[in-house]
Amino acid sequence: MAGYTPICEIPKIYHGLKETFGTGLTKPVSWRRCQLLQLARFVKENADAMADAVALDLGKPKQEFMMTEVSASIERSLIAADQVAEWAKPEAVTPAKEWQKGWNPRIEKHPKGVVLIIAPWNYPMVLNLQPLIGAISAGCCALLKPSEIAPHFSSFLAHNLGNYLDPNAYRVALGGVPETTRILEFKWDHIFYTGNSRVGRIIASAAAKHLTPTTLELGSKSPVIVDSTADIQLSARRILWGKVTNAGQICVAPDYILAERSILPALLDALKEEYRSFYPEGPFKSSSYGRIVSDAHVERLKGVLGRTNGQIVLGGKWSEDQGKRGLEPTFVVDVKPGDSLLEEELFGPILPIVAVESLDEAIGYVNARNHPLVVYIFSSDEGNKRKIIDNTVSGSVAVNDVFFQLAVNELPFGGVGESGYGRQVLKYSFDNFVYLRSITDTPYADEPNFQARYPPYTKESYDL
Ligand code: NAD
Repeated sequence: MAGYTPICEIPKIYHGLKETFGTGLTKPVSWRRCQLLQLARFVKENADAMADAVALDLGKPKQEFMMTEVSASIERSLIAADQVAEWAKPEAVTPAKEWQKGWNPRIEKHPKGVVLIIAPWNYPMVLNLQPLIGAISAGCCALLKPSEIAPHFSSFLAHNLGNYLDPNAYRVALGGVPETTRILEFKWDHIFYTGNSRVGRIIASAAAKHLTPTTLELGSKSPVIVDSTADIQLSARRILWGKVTNAGQICVAPDYILAERSILPALLDALKEEYRSFYPEGPFKSSSYGRIVSDAHVERLKGVLGRTNGQIVLGGKWSEDQGKRGLEPTFVVDVKPGDSLLEEELFGPILPIVAVESLDEAIGYVNARNHPLVVYIFSSDEGNKRKIIDNTVSGSVAVNDVFFQLAVNELPFGGVGESGYGRQVLKYSFDNFVYLRSITDTPYADEPNFQARYPPYTKESYDL
């Protein structure tokens, strides 16, 4: 397709990156630091242009883009520039055995080599740049493959990143399935993939052919458990914000609510009230509300919504202008296990609400399904919070708010089981792209200590 990287150029790109890595260009920490500062500059100087591109791709409100993508990308590039020397430092170990102390045993962190980063469309900046920050910090060369479903952003990245970062070390390839399939034929030293778990399996199998290590950042249905002690109004406000941000197209979006039956009417009233306060003129007239990314995703959402046996109590309408791909934030109640809304990750502004009789039932419901990226808990009861944390499995837990587990730079982010493996953000991103090399350096002068190991063996030599 026009604008895509010609498939015949992919080998050239791969071998070019290999050659660059072979020269050692990317290894000095001072060089890495400089590239990280350049990355921050790239984002800062091009934020407006990229906001325009993302608005064309996703209808994402500029303020949302600046808050969730630009500021995090700048801040994290700068933190990495500041901390990379510390992360990359060898770690000395102190052996317990006295006779090993003189060997200078240490762990060095060496770059894996030439790595591949494959990103999706929903947060196109952070999902490309966050792993890239890790790869640069680690001293690797990298090929970025942004999503064809966010073509304006991806094209901007491909055409402008090289004005800031060394284009011999960092490249961007544009394309869809055929281009990515060709890219995956090469022997990468690490593959960092973010996207859906169906494609995650394709990536993992392609990587397995070369025994290439991978990080898989996948999706899931993140449940929201609301118990009878929750602050209903504030919980509703925060949950709704989590569902309408990026029109629900976030890997960590609250996917569905499990609410104790006794608080359901109050929760619904609070959700409706908050909805009206977010969009007094309705969501389609609001410049604070995005849209569904593509016709294929519109069809998918129409399908799940059309098959639900639940009752739509608010929203559910599509924007009249077909091209706008808008779906109102949609609340659905009386949703029972087995409903279409509870099968796959929704990845859209639909909020099914399932009534449960008890906390145990909610925990049982979560545990009967794939492990999610996040478990959200809304409760004022410390015992209930502890019980849910101790009896469920997820990549992270956020209590009484949404997304704040992502806001803390020092926390690792990632999934477990079906929601993926590996961790990212700052030092955790760096860790993906280095391997730990154990090193000893034994003085020749220690030779008298080692006589027992050499043949011919005598009985005395293995007396303990
Ligand atoms: P997408 O369709 O853009 O695909 C992601 C990448 O995979 C793209 O670069 C695409 O070109 C490539 N790809 C698609 N099909 C391929 C194939 N057959 N072979 C090789 N490569 C292929 O994005 P998506 O998958 O729709 O993204 C949304 C999903 O990603 C959701 O499930 C979401 O939860 C998940 N996600 C996870 C995280 C996380 O950090 N865990 C973050 C964002 C999104």
